[in-house]
Amino acid sequence: MAKVSLQHIYKKFGNNVIAVNDFHLEIEDREFLVLVGPSGCGKSTTLRMIAGLEEISEGDLYIGDRRVNDVAPKDRDIAMVFQSYALYPHMNVYENMAFGLKLRKFSKAEIDKRIQEAARILDISHLLDRKPKALSGGQRQRVALGRAIVREPQVFLMDEPLSNLDAKLRVQMRTEILKLHQRLNTTIIYVTHDQTEAMTMGDRIVVMKDGLIQQVATPTDIYNYPVNQFVASFIGSPAMNFIKGRITEKEGRLVFDAPHIHVSFPEDKAKLLKERGYVNKEVTFGIRPEDIYSDNQFIEANPFDSSIEAVIDVVENMGSELYVYFTNVGETQMVARVDAREGFKPRMSVKLGMDLSKCHVFDSETELAVF
Ligand code: ATP
Repeated sequence: MAKVSLQHIYKKFGNNVIAVNDFHLEIEDREFLVLVGPSGCGKSTTLRMIAGLEEISEGDLYIGDRRVNDVAPKDRDIAMVFQSYALYPHMNVYENMAFGLKLRKFSKAEIDKRIQEAARILDISHLLDRKPKALSGGQRQRVALGRAIVREPQVFLMDEPLSNLDAKLRVQMRTEILKLHQRLNTTIIYVTHDQTEAMTMGDRIVVMKDGLIQQVATPTDIYNYPVNQFVASFIGSPAMNFIKGRITEKEGRLVFDAPHIHVSFPEDKAKLLKERGYVNKEVTFGIRPEDIYSDNQFIEANPFDSSIEAVIDVVENMGSELYVYFTNVGETQMVARVDAREGFKPRMSVKLGMDLSKCHVFDSETELAVF
């Protein structure tokens, strides 16, 4: 069993920096867990503590059933893959992959068997006698993965392993690592600052900020039910639109009061807002770009009254869809994702609608989600 359990883990640097603040999580056997967050949020430090490269200030760390706080990195049964690949330049690919196994006194035959098998899985069999400098970035990354695989560890730790690759290769390696995960059937803990990587790879995602876990959930739940405004803004591209305004009651309906935008909440959402005391309070309204519609028919058929008066600033053509940016909703810049066939152009005046079943409201003080 390769369950990894972090129990109230803290990392303090000196007296002032709490890099990781009460990290408490059970990572399941064979789970692909992604730690994601902006620079400095503590994700690498968390991973390095699991690896044993950083001392734990407080709390208990278990790998399987063993408390490993005081166990040396080499005895933790983990393998780590770094962003920098960390290959030995004077050794060829075969020697790089063999190095860790030799240290652990594996027999020559066993080393060879494991290297050939890993090389086959990663499609690098033809590169075994090359030095790292004679490899492309993608090939080096495969070798770094190979070196981890041959160890057959209980847990793989990966710290931004794809960030040095170009965009196309990154997408390709993403799939490779997922396939590898299915094939090896081990636990992977993966650190990235890239929300797309987190969304596409993780069984579960941990979103961190300022050393604190903000939310732990599946990609779908993180996307649809962010617990606060930070998570809502961090996950999703282009990011969720936020508009500040006030909830008021008009003719028996709850409405969101902000310039150039009209929202009359559907029953279930109005009920929640009333129950939680948000009538006549300032809030932040959130709507994802794909939940804004250009289609007039949709607006007319929409039972939950919503509209935005917009003058288009910029249109980004993504091929299958357009990202339409407009700023005349109060002072707020907003963006909508619409069908490329709409033919929207800068300076056009348009009326947009929203799918209010997908809208969010956040407390303007705590930034916690009401829904
Ligand atoms: P990045 O994506 O930039 O690597 P991160 O989320 O991985 O960021 P960490 O590297 O874990 O963040 O750093 C978390 C916090 O701890 C940061 O504020 C960082 O400045 C601080 N920190 C990290 N290492 C040390 C250290 N050795 N001494 C003091 N502070 C440190």
